[in-house]
Amino acid sequence: MPTIRQQIIDLLNEEELNARDLSQALSIMEKEVYDHLAHIERTLARQGKKLGVTPCKCLNCGYIFEKRKKWTKPGRCPSCKEGHISMAGYRIVPS
Ligand SMILES: [Zn+2]
Repeated sequence: MPTIRQQIIDLLNEEELNARDLSQALSIMEKEVYDHLAHIERTLARQGKKLGVTPCKCLNCGYIFEKRKKWTKPGRCPSCKEGHISMAGYRIVPS
């Protein structure tokens, strides 16, 4: 059996997924997904690859959370104060 991290790497080599997709695919908590992603990002750096991140986006006004793109989903949009925020997407890309 490949490790969870190897499974995440395999999935993200294939397509862009968010933390919820990964948690469902691997039957782990979303919080665990973020822990693994943080570790995977460091591993990839040694392999000449990186974790590409599509930042969270407000579904109400389109505000993009550029500065908070990594591991957590924002609670509310600073622009319109709505809470309908898309999750960040992750994919492995060449660095
Ligand atoms: Zn907004």
